[in-house]
Formats: sequence, C-alpha cells, structure tokens
Amino acid sequence: MSELREVIEQRVLFRYQTESESVASRLERTVADRLGSAHALAVHNCTEALRLCLISTRPAVGDLVYIPAVTFVAVAGAVLSCGLIPVLVDADESLSMDPALLPPDARRVVVAHMEGTVAHIPPDVPYVIEDCAQALGARLPDGRHAGTAGYAGTYSFHHNKVLTSGEGGLIVTSNPEAWARMRSYHDHGSARVPGHYPTWEQDAHYGENFVTSEEVAAVQFQQFRHLEEVLAGLERMYAIAMDLLPDRPELRVLPRASGDAKVSLRFRWESRELRDAAVDALTARGIANWTLNKYLLPDHPVLKARRSLYADGFPWNHAPDEVLALSHDRFARTRDLLNRTLCVPLSPELPEQDQIAASKALRQALEAV
Ligand SMILES: *Cc1c(COP(=O)(O)O)cnc(C)c1O
Repeated sequence: MSELREVIEQRVLFRYQTESESVASRLERTVADRLGSAHALAVHNCTEALRLCLISTRPAVGDLVYIPAVTFVAVAGAVLSCGLIPVLVDADESLSMDPALLPPDARRVVVAHMEGTVAHIPPDVPYVIEDCAQALGARLPDGRHAGTAGYAGTYSFHHNKVLTSGEGGLIVTSNPEAWARMRSYHDHGSARVPGHYPTWEQDAHYGENFVTSEEVAAVQFQQFRHLEEVLAGLERMYAIAMDLLPDRPELRVLPRASGDAKVSLRFRWESRELRDAAVDALTARGIANWTLNKYLLPDHPVLKARRSLYADGFPWNHAPDEVLALSHDRFARTRDLLNRTLCVPLSPELPEQDQIAASKALRQALEAV
C-alpha cells in the first residue's frame, strides 16, 4: 500500500505530469538494473510491448515475422496489428521454438519462454524479440536474464503471470536507438520532456498512446520487491514436489533447466487418455492444473482462416498465398506432445509445510490415475 498511497496522496497519476522522477521511471530504472539491461519502458500490457518492439524495427507492411507455433495468440495479434505476417515455426521436444527450422535470411523472430522454460535464442538474426510474459526472472544458460539476449524483451503483469498489476507490460532493451524510437512512438511520436506538453521534431513519425499510469507502476514497483521471494518460493516447492512425485513408467516430468522460472511442473503422459484422466483426477481433488493445447496456433481460427476486421483483410492481403508454416510434419508431433502434456502450477507464497502437504496431495492424485 505504501507506494500506491504515495501516488494517490501526491495527486499525480500521469507519469509525465511533473519534472521530478515518476514512480514509472523509478520502476523502469529498477527493472533495468535488476535484469541487466540498459533501458526499460513501461506500457499497458505485453501485447502492446510486442507491438512496440516490432514497429521500432522499421519494417515494411507484409514483412514476415517468425513466431512460435506454440504460444499465446497475443504474439500473432501483435504481429498482424503491425501490418506484418506471422510465420509459425514448430516446436522441439521441450515445446519451445526449434531455431533449426528458421531460414538463413530470417530478420525478425519472436521467441517465447513459455511456462518459465527458457527457449533457445536463434543466432545471427538481427531482431530477436524475447516474449518473457511467462518467464520473468528466468535465466539463460549463460546466466543472462531472459529478455536481455536479443534486440528486446517483453514482460506481462497480467493477473496470471509471475508478478501482477492486473494488467501491465514492460520492455527491456540495451539498444539506445531502439529505446528512443519506442519511447517516442509510445507517447504520440513526441520528444517528451517530463513536466511539459509534448513536442514534435520536424522528422517525427506518428505514434500512439501506450503511456503507463502511476498507480499501475506503483503496484508493479511493489511487486518487484517480492521477485526474489517469489522465485525462491517456486524453487523450494519445485524441489519438494520433484522429491515426492510417484515413480510411474507412464508418467514423465519434463526436465527444467536450472535457470528456468519454476512456475509449474510439466508432465508428459504416455497417452492422451491418461493425460485426460489425470486432468479429471486433479480437478476432482481441487488441484489446479492446465493443458497447453490452447497454445497450438496452427489450429487457431485467426491463423487458420486468416481473419481480420479490415474490409480488405489487412494485413493478410499482403501475405503470400501459400501456408506460412515451418514444420517437418505439419505439427503432427507437436499436436501429439501437447495432447499428452499437463501442467500443475506451483505456489510460491505457501509456507514450506503447506508446500509439502500440497505436493503429497498431488502425488496421491497422480497415483490414482
Ligand atoms: C500473457 C501472454 C502475452 C500477453 O500479455 P498481456 O500482458 O496479457 O498482453 C503474450 N505472450 C505470452 C506468451 C503470454 O503468456
């Protein structure tokens, strides 16, 4: 409450209302330091963050953007709403984008670190945007934070993510020109000086309004103070649960790298029938769980039918006629993997005794399948 109260008592809810440092700027400084990036920019949500990253690369309408075949549809929406064409790239065993499928001339790639699992960063691509909506705090094998290895990284503070402000988004980048373009575009294309009405240079471009508000930034700032605690709570419950899991030949736990944010346990069953039975068994016992089938973009109506609200179908009217997808088997293996995968979220806020009790209840439920 202290950050939020401070904002409300000062009666300054707009971040550029005064010359003094706003909560939003303090948040950006803290996040950039914490994640090891030169710059951060707060926006309303991660979808806007992705849009801003894409538009800042100065693309031409109809340019291709390679995106994971297994991710939330927001990634495709961000690409399309920038006038760009998404190309679905199939996943590897871990369900992350398989960079070996990318063509050598790929210029723009969005990778998504799903469920806290760190994906491979494709080498030699000029614009790699890391979607870290589900992986705040995760680290790449070389120790860098997810989101800081490519052109830019995006984060979500939606209700379901590692930290939350209801809705909220952040971008990090160490590219000063990219940051300047994003900052300008997110504030009507202006060259804003805090405390003043915006001004426009003669070579200004149009922009939109993605400027965050002080109340949301205050909640995010408070949330960030708990990031270590949240990550440690996830690690602790992950270790407890891994120790207590039943040893069944039909059930495999997908391995997690040490740098992953351990937001969930991911199970791979021998068959879809067993997976579905596990969903029923866990749900009947009140144990939260979810599948990842919803993320299979090749089956999503927006992508399958190339739907758009524009009368001329924009931007699909700029897309080549052939189906744009990179997969060896039309996603057959990925579809099968998703049909057999089940996730159980971990609860970082629970005290250790309750984490042990929850893990025992999970074991009993899994043994009963
Ligand atoms: C949640 C999510 C988004 C969208 O984030 P919002 O803040 O809700 O716009 C994008 N990508 C992935 C992988 C997500 O999980």
